[in-house]
Amino acid sequence: MKVAVFSTKVYDRQFLEAANSRNEHDLVFFEPRLNKDTAILAAGFPAVCVFVHDQADAATLEILASGGTRLLALRCAGFNNVDLKAADELGITVVRVPAYSPYAVAEHTVGLILCLNRKIHRAYNRIREGNFSLDGLLGFDLHGRTVGIIGTGKIGQILAQIMKGFGLSLLAYDVYRNPELEALGAKYVEKKELFANSDIISLHCPLMPETHHLINDKAVEQMKSGVMLINTSRGALIDATAVTKGLKSGKIGSLGIDVYEQEADLFFEDLSSAIIQDDVFERLIMFPNVLVTGHQAFFTENAVSKIAETTIGNITDVEHNRPCANEIRAEPTKLVVGEQKS
Ligand code: NAD
Repeated sequence: MKVAVFSTKVYDRQFLEAANSRNEHDLVFFEPRLNKDTAILAAGFPAVCVFVHDQADAATLEILASGGTRLLALRCAGFNNVDLKAADELGITVVRVPAYSPYAVAEHTVGLILCLNRKIHRAYNRIREGNFSLDGLLGFDLHGRTVGIIGTGKIGQILAQIMKGFGLSLLAYDVYRNPELEALGAKYVEKKELFANSDIISLHCPLMPETHHLINDKAVEQMKSGVMLINTSRGALIDATAVTKGLKSGKIGSLGIDVYEQEADLFFEDLSSAIIQDDVFERLIMFPNVLVTGHQAFFTENAVSKIAETTIGNITDVEHNRPCANEIRAEPTKLVVGEQKS
């Protein structure tokens, strides 16, 4: 199949070409992101391959469909950037990579927790400047503390296993219970109870209308004073303004984020010579107790190669009209997702 690959970085090309080593597909790489202005690049391509910041809204999909596109292959799990209803109406099949390495994201989450708790980001800079003072670097033992995990699917489950290994108690919130977590001793509670009793709160649920700004002023108010808040899921789970207020008041003791609601304007690009216009983001990164990474939690060799292999497999399935387990589609009232628990 002829595939237009959008948002291509060097590593995308390297891993997709390796996964396509038998030249099953004709991959053409484009650097720009997909949106209604760039969709014309895909004219004549039956398949389009996109990542998290590409915009597959109705207007973009219409241009793709009129150019002959009938497959949209996501190189990611989340599909909040795709208008599934419009895709369905236009006859465009949408496939994704539901799981590539939950370990990659869970381990990055643990990295943020450890770094923030023991102030390793600050110590790193101090030592380079010859400052060996310990003032301001005081952390706490994770052992004996409580972590609250919101969204206990594949990534939340691995995080729970690792946290259990550190000796933390586990609180969980999800619309479905995961028996694997219960076997670890996790207690499913309502969000309010999780907020009130967790020393660390980590978000691992998808971004949907129900989870948009899950962390808002009210949620922050319900949290323990000094709580550590971690988000490696999707930026818009957090209302950054509410969290900034919480950081200023000290209610939030530290914040670790790999995702940010307006990240599409910033992440994956080198903006080191530009003036960042996002004042909310600039305020956030000025806090000494905030650690931001630029959507890199997935970025391990294992994960990127699995993403590429699954993407090529998905495209092959659709090309040969085989049922694809990774297809996602919208139904009139609810989303239907291949891997979602029943
Ligand atoms: P998953 O589908 O296995 O788990 C998601 C869990 O969230 C499920 O158990 C589901 O029941 C639960 N959920 C759904 N609605 C909910 C709600 N309203 N409240 C609470 N829980 C709810 O997904 P996963 O593989 O564990 O990935 C989780 C999220 O991580 C993805 O949605 C994606 O946005 C994000 N992610 C981020 C990166 C990164 O690089 N930062 C990489 C991969 C995935």
